Amino acid sequence: MSGWIIDRIDFIDNKTCEFCNRPLKTNIAYILIRDGIEVPAGPHCSHKNAKNPGERIPDFTKASLDIPDDDENGPGSGGGSGGGKGKHPRPAGYYEIEYLRLRAEKLIDFRDAIFPKLSDVYAKYKATGLDDGDIGYLDGLIKKVSAEKPLLSPKNLQICYAYSFWLQRYLDRKGKNDFISSILSQLKAKMRLSEAQLAAANKCFETIGRIPRLDTKAFL
Ligand SMILES: [Zn+2]
Repeated sequence: MSGWIIDRIDFIDNKTCEFCNRPLKTNIAYILIRDGIEVPAGPHCSHKNAKNPGERIPDFTKASLDIPDDDENGPGSGGGSGGGKGKHPRPAGYYEIEYLRLRAEKLIDFRDAIFPKLSDVYAKYKATGLDDGDIGYLDGLIKKVSAEKPLLSPKNLQICYAYSFWLQRYLDRKGKNDFISSILSQLKAKMRLSEAQLAAANKCFETIGRIPRLDTKAFL
């Protein structure tokens, strides 16, 4: 019998917890998988329903200040200034796998995210899992890009993923916006945006609810 497996922490848009049906208000959730089906859940329900609570999992939301909503607090009981937060601290990320999946899954349409050797490693990860040699390779890659090509560092990739999520979310809400579309394309091509572009995006975001302000110095 197969059960739910916690796969990752990821961004979600306007979803409810699969298990208790409460709205997940922070746009961040645990994503659980069973038989190829993915569902979002809050921290408490994830830990209660999954076979692998506490396991190291990738967290693709590190560039966000939000944390997964402790949905089971319920209206009224959590209340106040973020009561209940911290009861389920984020598990330590599986650093190398997180980096591999960022490049091979999350940023697949970003320039330079993927290259043949990394594609091979990702295929192996999906098929059989990685061995110590592969983890060592990823470790070396992370060190190399962090020193020589910081646009591909784990930190910058997390920012790229989060900011592309919010820009896309704005477009999904608004239908169309030439400026936001153009800076989203630029982000995918250059893996960075300027302070002026981010400030202008924030102006657009003011007109719409539940999208965070972007840190205009994120890419400096
Ligand atoms: Zn729940």
